[in-house]
Amino acid sequence: MRTPLIAGNWKMNGSADLVEAFGRAFAEAELPDGLEVAIFPPFPYLEAARRAFAETPIGLGAQTLNPLHSGAHTGEVSGRMLCEFGVRYALVGHSERRQLYRESDEQVYDRLLAALGVDLIPVLCVGETLEERDAGRTMEVVLRQVGFVMSRLEPQQRSRVVIAYEPVWAIGTGRTATPQQAQEVMAAIRDYQASFDAELASAMRLLYGGSMNAGNAGELLSQPDIDGGLVGGASLKVDDFLAICQSAG
Ligand code: 13P
Repeated sequence: MRTPLIAGNWKMNGSADLVEAFGRAFAEAELPDGLEVAIFPPFPYLEAARRAFAETPIGLGAQTLNPLHSGAHTGEVSGRMLCEFGVRYALVGHSERRQLYRESDEQVYDRLLAALGVDLIPVLCVGETLEERDAGRTMEVVLRQVGFVMSRLEPQQRSRVVIAYEPVWAIGTGRTATPQQAQEVMAAIRDYQASFDAELASAMRLLYGGSMNAGNAGELLSQPDIDGGLVGGASLKVDDFLAICQSAG
């Protein structure tokens, strides 16, 4: 059985007050047994979040990391630093980083390797644009993004990676992939993993991301290959995010 994971990616949003509000709400919340919950706040809030989430089941995640431990890289943050703040997860390859900051498959791989190197759980984000979907290239694009990274890893490294399928056209648009569309791609990702190792493929956690909200989460999460969600906008409201967590039961 795979442990479900609901992760909230705050992107460049949130505030110290929001961190406190999540801490208070989740200290008292009744969550489904065995559910893993994580919040990925902007870097400046990590220390406050570590304290506010101490008595809650929320794990801490970072939205990116530099491949290096230290050095003359103004503006960057290393995995080693994140670990000092109790961070457990790191996003790599989010489509906003691929598109806005021109991160290539190589750079995504380097960051993921850095995360593994300091024992962070990497959440590898993949997904096609609308243009790619309309051109019938969804599987090709997604499996290239997955394959570029996974084919370069040792089996033991592969087993630590979580993959988030986030169709770019569904991110922040209110246009969610249908459960069938998401399931189709995510089953293909799992099948691809099975070409390396069937056991590993059946244990690998796959998250869906893209306009997931309290209303659509239940149906998405009931698909056989969807093990959780990577939630953007709806993770900025305590009640919405709690409701999504509750629908993962
Ligand atoms: P939205 O839930 O706002 O569409 O964002 C999804 C996302 O990009 C999470 O990483």
